[in-house]
Amino acid sequence: MTKFIIANYKMNKNFDECMDYINTFKNFRLPRERTVVICPPDYVLDNFASVIHKKKNCFVGAQDSAIERDGSMTGELSATMIKSTGAKYVILGHSERRNKLGETSGEVNKKVKLAVEAGLVPIVCVGEKLEETKKRKSVILNQLKESLKGVDISKIIIAYEPIWAIGTGKTCDVKDIQFVHQYIKSKLSTKNNFEPVIVYGGSVKPSNAGEILSLECVDGVLVGGSSLDPYEFYKIVKS
Ligand code: PEP
Repeated sequence: MTKFIIANYKMNKNFDECMDYINTFKNFRLPRERTVVICPPDYVLDNFASVIHKKKNCFVGAQDSAIERDGSMTGELSATMIKSTGAKYVILGHSERRNKLGETSGEVNKKVKLAVEAGLVPIVCVGEKLEETKKRKSVILNQLKESLKGVDISKIIIAYEPIWAIGTGKTCDVKDIQFVHQYIKSKLSTKNNFEPVIVYGGSVKPSNAGEILSLECVDGVLVGGSSLDPYEFYKIVKS
């Protein structure tokens, strides 16, 4: 089964840096058992899609999409606009958007539905804060219930990202990753009779990617900081 390796540049890299990156990355040979998704800033989505569209198992994704289908939403990019660039995926409900911009699970739910309708695969992020560790099961379950209300889970990817592990260098213990992934699978599988695809995110780097990816219940990784250098990211792809 393929494992997803997803790069999230966040708000990093200008146009030339992005193009240098993709022109380096396009020459790397990707293992057959990996599906790579690169999520750069929106302004290079079509450039990236046209560079890698002939590459097998490699796709482009956005880091967010608008809450409305179209209309008066100055500065926003709709799911159909993103799709028209050649992108196939979109990260939704990232903790930085939830916590810094106040995005709610209800809003994430609207975005997820519009993304699916547009033919994109949403990568829906959930995860607990450090102070919520003891009640993480209920925190995560609530985020999932609200974010995925009325959504066919066979059309999405879930990213479990403990917030305290994002960009901090602190990785979640593999036993904890396993516990949470199995918990989510058990909760969503029973309701929908389908096993959801779940990737882990939070300080994944070349030195820990192999161990995390070897876990059966982990369907891939979402990588922020370590995706910014194409050579480092490629090490993770090959892990
Ligand atoms: C992320 O951006 O979702 C992320 C997990 O970042 P980092 O790998 O830097 O922790």
